[in-house]
Amino acid sequence: MKIASVIVDVPAKQTDKPFDYLIPSQWEETIQPGMRVVVPFGPRHIQGFVIEVKRESEFKQLREIIEPMDLEPVLNQELLKLGTWLTDHTLCFKIFAFQVMLPAALKAKYEKKVKLAPGAAAVDLPMPLQPYFANSNTFSWEIALKNGLVPYLQRASAEGLLEVLYEVKEKVRRKLVHVIGPNLGVQDLKLELERLPGNAEKQKQVLAYFIEHDSEIELRQLTEKIKASSTTVKALVEKKLLWEAEKEVYRDPYENRTFERTSPLPLTEAQTTAIKPILDSIEGNQHEVFLLYGVTGSGKTEIYLQSIQEVIAKGKEAIVLVPEIALTPQMVNRFKGRFGDQVAVLHSGLSAGEKYDEWRKIQRKQVKVAVGARSAIFAPFENIGIIIIDEEHETSYKQEEMPRYHAKDVAIERAKTYSCPVVLGSATPSLESFARAQKKVYHLLSLPTRMNNQALPSVEIIDMREELRAGNRSMFSTKLFEMLKDRLEKNQQSVLFLNKRGHSSFVMCRDCGYVVSCPNCDISLTYHRAGVQMKCHYCGFESPVPKICPECSSEYIRYFGTGTQKVEDELGKILPEARVIRMDVDTTGRKGSHERLLKEFQDGKADILLGTQMIAKGLDFPNITLVGVLSADTMLHLPDFRSSEKTFQLLTQVSGRAGRHQLPGEVIIQTYTPEHYSIELAGTQNYDLFYQREMFVRKMHHYPPFYFLALITVSHEQLMTVMSATEKIARFLRSQVSNQAVVLGPSVSPIARINNRYRYQCLIKYKREPNLTKTLKTIIDQHQNEAKNGLLVSVDVNPFILM
Ligand code: ADP
Ligand code: ZN
Ligand code: ZN
Repeated sequence: MKIASVIVDVPAKQTDKPFDYLIPSQWEETIQPGMRVVVPFGPRHIQGFVIEVKRESEFKQLREIIEPMDLEPVLNQELLKLGTWLTDHTLCFKIFAFQVMLPAALKAKYEKKVKLAPGAAAVDLPMPLQPYFANSNTFSWEIALKNGLVPYLQRASAEGLLEVLYEVKEKVRRKLVHVIGPNLGVQDLKLELERLPGNAEKQKQVLAYFIEHDSEIELRQLTEKIKASSTTVKALVEKKLLWEAEKEVYRDPYENRTFERTSPLPLTEAQTTAIKPILDSIEGNQHEVFLLYGVTGSGKTEIYLQSIQEVIAKGKEAIVLVPEIALTPQMVNRFKGRFGDQVAVLHSGLSAGEKYDEWRKIQRKQVKVAVGARSAIFAPFENIGIIIIDEEHETSYKQEEMPRYHAKDVAIERAKTYSCPVVLGSATPSLESFARAQKKVYHLLSLPTRMNNQALPSVEIIDMREELRAGNRSMFSTKLFEMLKDRLEKNQQSVLFLNKRGHSSFVMCRDCGYVVSCPNCDISLTYHRAGVQMKCHYCGFESPVPKICPECSSEYIRYFGTGTQKVEDELGKILPEARVIRMDVDTTGRKGSHERLLKEFQDGKADILLGTQMIAKGLDFPNITLVGVLSADTMLHLPDFRSSEKTFQLLTQVSGRAGRHQLPGEVIIQTYTPEHYSIELAGTQNYDLFYQREMFVRKMHHYPPFYFLALITVSHEQLMTVMSATEKIARFLRSQVSNQAVVLGPSVSPIARINNRYRYQCLIKYKREPNLTKTLKTIIDQHQNEAKNGLLVSVDVNPFILM
């Protein structure tokens, strides 16, 4: 008798532990740790992960597993262990830790269905429900929700006419195709061909095909080639002359693309020095964390490629993380070009099915390199030889929902298990990483110059207050306008960058200052011209733009803020002859559009590329000689202790887009606060000085990397409830931590209300608190019990967003 320990898919404190189930005898051989199974749980059937198979249980009267969901484990032993680490490290439910490691397609949805109770008939139901049961005795809960049928369902359910089912449904299935091949050798096929009756013309053609091509072919292709029907082919299968099988195929998103193969370049002296310790670590199977610090274009990627080559030569595997927005075709080309079919690419531009296929290639050991965004860190390799994180300072490596993990921490944890190096690369390392390198926790490797010693672009900072004083009220300074015109005349390309985060277009009354904001959240609604709609970015609330001010009835209610659309409009007025490509969330929503727009720009179909964050990275086109930053300081004033760091990083990154090739580049940064050190130092691209200044500020205010942070956010619909609960938590925290730690709060969250829930927070700054994890866990557990009254408590250890 075998017993499985299962983590069930019920994220709650009471269920956050393994439950034992009997493995029915027919599946004793099948079910293994790391597989998903369907188990009974109360009256429901739910999904769970088998974490262990054992002989005994301390519990009696175990229920049986209903069925396995996988034919092979989806999580290997190492990933199961990593799940436990993730749970402890981020204080999340175990089930979340396992689910986050799988591609979305495998995260089975439960389809909630409504079913007629036995003995009940459709005519017994309330009128509005009857049509839905006309042809079937079930229908989906989603449809019920959409059509506002829930109240009727409740009534019918109370009368015992209906019941609710939960069905596990797999979102994506493997793609299978029919494949046909010959059962006989060429000689025998020739004999068989002779024997076929004279009128079996098509069958003869099929056999002739296999006499010519002695290999298998997809049924569909075969029938197309010789214009035969599948019945013709099947007839030959029945005669056992051909065989037929179902085979799994991969939907390769790069299938029809050819990648120019590249070979390793002879390394420069600086590169040779930098790569040596990495190669030593690979050679000696030593775990070590390297910080590869080098400006854009200094040859970091070539170092990644050659390190990976070494890893592959040793029969091992590599994971490469790049930020989602930097996962451009150019980036993918570099890896596919060097390693061809051995590369799987995981990014959000792929459909769930395509992502699943890429993941399967990794799982089945058909590739050696996984390139992807944050979640690729969980690539199910079993013999990892290196993990590379490019642009390691990017905040997108931190997941902002449960489990709130940072990919860097996961990388280091996995690399320890496999005794292999981690390489963190950046031109502007995060303060945390650089401080660790200074303290020799990480091994610092530097590439001080660009390839060919190309000069960095010259940067000029324009004070927009001066422009205003001089009577220029446009969003373009005189200088930037003239340079745009100049590039247009020279037939060179420009990039205009709008730092939009925290600065979206809102609608304001010019007479009374009224701002249209979300009725559920304490933030202004964002204006989208496409649908003449305003949207709330937090709760999704939408409303049309008012024609007159709801406060004072003025007609002068307009949208404000420099959204990309507005810049585009203005460009159209001042430089009507310029061809502009706009890239933002609105123009790149559809799959592949990001790629298409970049391609158009690369092919010279436009003079100016205008966009938000998403164009800051990875662009490497020879003809770009001007980069303009329209509003450098919009991010500086966010309530976030990293805002200076982020501003510096972003400006440095954007500047790096200009003059990467023969033509020299120029950068214009427009700002209202030119004296701020992060803008001034981005102007001279002086990371080292910025590091010193910023470290000083962090030290003074007790922020990372001098202190660790943990953020507790409490929310509830009643303001009083939130305040008193947060007060209680703060008091409890203070009683538990040492006097070296600082507990700030309770205070109102920077976004005071989201979706009608008031939000308060407590921030803990600490150096060493061995008991903090336990204390935080206690707080979470206590409030799990209170979750019924609607109070939500979330804990973010090492938060990146303090909102
Ligand atoms: P980074 O990743 O730091 O931005 P890359 O590795 O992309 O830098 O290198 C910048 C450019 O220099 C690329 O076009 C790359 O092909 C080229 N390059 C890199 N290393 C060498 C080398 N050793 N010899 C010649 N060209 C190189
Ligand atoms: Zn008004
Ligand atoms: Zn809202």
